[in-house]
Amino acid sequence: MARSAVLCLFLLLCQLLATGAPAQPLPPDTGFPSQPAAVRDLRANFDLSAEQLRLHALSLRQQQVDPVARAWATLALIEFENELEHEPEVFALLDELNASSVALKVHDLRFATLELSAVVYMHRNRVEQSRAALDEMQQMVSQFPNRQWQTLLRHDEGVLQRKLGRFDQALTDFEAAAELQKDGSNPSLLARELNSIGMLHGRTGRFSDAALVHNEALALARKAGDKPEMARSLRLLGVLYRNLDDEERGTEYLREALAQVQARNHREAIILTAELGISLMNMERFDEAAGFIEQAVAMAEQSGNAQNKVNAYSRMADLELVRGHWESAKRWVDRAWLEYDHVAVRDQVLLGLSRVRVFSARGATPETLAQARATLEGARKIGDRILERAALDVVADLELGLGDAASAYATRKTHQKLDKELAMDIAGRRIAVLEASLEQERGNMEKQLLTSENQIKDLRITRQRYLGLALVSGMIALVAVLLLLFWRVRTMRRTNAELRANRDQLAQLHAALLKTSERLEHMANTDALTGVANRHAVMRRIEELWQRGRIGGDGCLMLIDMDHFKLVNDRYSHLAGDAVLRTAAERMLTALPDQALLGRWGGEEFIVVLPTVAEADALAIAERLRQRLDDSVEWQQSAIRCSGSIGVAMLDAARFSSADEWIAASDRALYRAKREGRNRVQLASRDPAEDLALRTRAND
Ligand code: GH3
Ligand code: MG
Ligand code: MG
Repeated sequence: MARSAVLCLFLLLCQLLATGAPAQPLPPDTGFPSQPAAVRDLRANFDLSAEQLRLHALSLRQQQVDPVARAWATLALIEFENELEHEPEVFALLDELNASSVALKVHDLRFATLELSAVVYMHRNRVEQSRAALDEMQQMVSQFPNRQWQTLLRHDEGVLQRKLGRFDQALTDFEAAAELQKDGSNPSLLARELNSIGMLHGRTGRFSDAALVHNEALALARKAGDKPEMARSLRLLGVLYRNLDDEERGTEYLREALAQVQARNHREAIILTAELGISLMNMERFDEAAGFIEQAVAMAEQSGNAQNKVNAYSRMADLELVRGHWESAKRWVDRAWLEYDHVAVRDQVLLGLSRVRVFSARGATPETLAQARATLEGARKIGDRILERAALDVVADLELGLGDAASAYATRKTHQKLDKELAMDIAGRRIAVLEASLEQERGNMEKQLLTSENQIKDLRITRQRYLGLALVSGMIALVAVLLLLFWRVRTMRRTNAELRANRDQLAQLHAALLKTSERLEHMANTDALTGVANRHAVMRRIEELWQRGRIGGDGCLMLIDMDHFKLVNDRYSHLAGDAVLRTAAERMLTALPDQALLGRWGGEEFIVVLPTVAEADALAIAERLRQRLDDSVEWQQSAIRCSGSIGVAMLDAARFSSADEWIAASDRALYRAKREGRNRVQLASRDPAEDLALRTRAND
């Protein structure tokens, strides 16, 4: 028998292992087609806190124009208000939603409204209102058969029955709901039913069954990625192991559950925190236990919900009693007692038990015994065997304390019998432990697999990110370099162009300057009237020749003076004189060799500088000059008679001590020519005194 059970479990486990695929998203609700996607997503969101979700629902509700969509948003809002235990808001909004869902005649909206009403009323122990909602749901299900609706209805029926302490009926309902979902198309819903079934098994002492279904529920919730149901599975497993006296394992499960519980799931978080405290208390880790239970009390007080408060306060009383703080334990149990009427039957029994324990610690009284017996009755009525066993313990102690040994003996016998019945499950308990270890291992392996998959994914993402980063940085660097190059080239081009322009400008300026300086030089060296060299230019040439003459160079000077020029001016005007001077210069130029320089010496006097020439040649050139001058010049119908006298002096470095002396020699020769009758050529005599004498006479 036991062997076949083990085999069965093993096979089931294998099946579980085979189906343990990675988490998949929840399938969409098919029973509620009029529900807008935004509302559905909000209701399925477990990442945000209830307060954040409430704000989202509020704004969603304001945005909706369509009355049906608005009603759905109201429904979501009520769910979040309910989770935050905002009771007045919940009831007011629920009235509004009930009215609108009736008026709108949209069936799925109406059904969802009823379902929410049933849950809200149930949690606040308003059995009649809850009953009414469930009845109407029943009518709707008969009218519009729908598997999802049926499952929800049976589940809520089960919860109500459990609250009323009718565990057998509740179990039937949950099993029917699970049966409806056995095809596994909605793993979340099935996990919820299995957990509800397991919870009842645990309370009625069927531990192996409980372990089995909770583990199955955990696997399903994992598969569906349904964190709230995962937390609930783990919590129920934790409590189960506590009842199996395996506090260590129980604590492990509870801690894992606490890690899974979502910010939004207030009620679950409070229950879990308190349960963890009790487990630690049982392990005699009182300080840690106190930390958790105090936290649970704070959360329960913040929530203001009676069920939460009774739960946390009675846990606190249990702890204080164990720690020997009787006064404090009494205070906590009294505070919890104030909420007695507002909680479900099982919570009432639980509270009664805590109270009786506290009172009995101060000695047995008939009143306490009566209360203990009433509690025992209550536990029996709801079929909670765990509570029954605890109550029997207290009753037996009290009976003994009051000296009623016979009754105490009978009670102990009953206790023993119950213990035995619970121990009958001992084989199952071992199997459950075995199965749970396997399940835990499987879970761990799955977790490891998921972690390594995530790591690989992370690595891949990191690699891609780095590659992308490198690519982007490379591109940026390239673009920057290109831009820089482009900028450099442009700047260089611009600079080059500017330089070229500057250079051209400079060249132009230079050319202009050259021209100007040439012109200036020309002007500086040229006689303005005749266009021949001026005295300054001639003087420079004379100096050059003179310097060359000192080292053996030849040269010749001819000084030319126009004859009786005064008469020309007087007779024909100064302008005519100017014209004669210009013509004389032109004429002389045609008679001179290339190397000769003709200049105006001053007034009506000209000079010719000849380099390297023999005396005879010089005289021949002078004669040619004289002949060219000896001619009339046409001026305004007049022919002006003119001629010139020429004094020639050959360069003789031995004779002249300076260029001036050379010039003076030609000057003297010129005057000699004048003296001797003009219009003639005269070579400077070797004896300067000869020329001088003639000149002195001429001056006379
Ligand atoms: P001679 O034959 O003795 O040289 O007689 P001359 O009249 O030429 O004598 P002189 O040297 O005394 O006179 C020179 C005259 O030349 C005086 C002056 O009016 C004239 N003359 C000097 N320079 C210029 C000039 O640039 N233009 C004109 N029209 N006449 C000038
Ligand atoms: Mg003169
Ligand atoms: Mg003259």
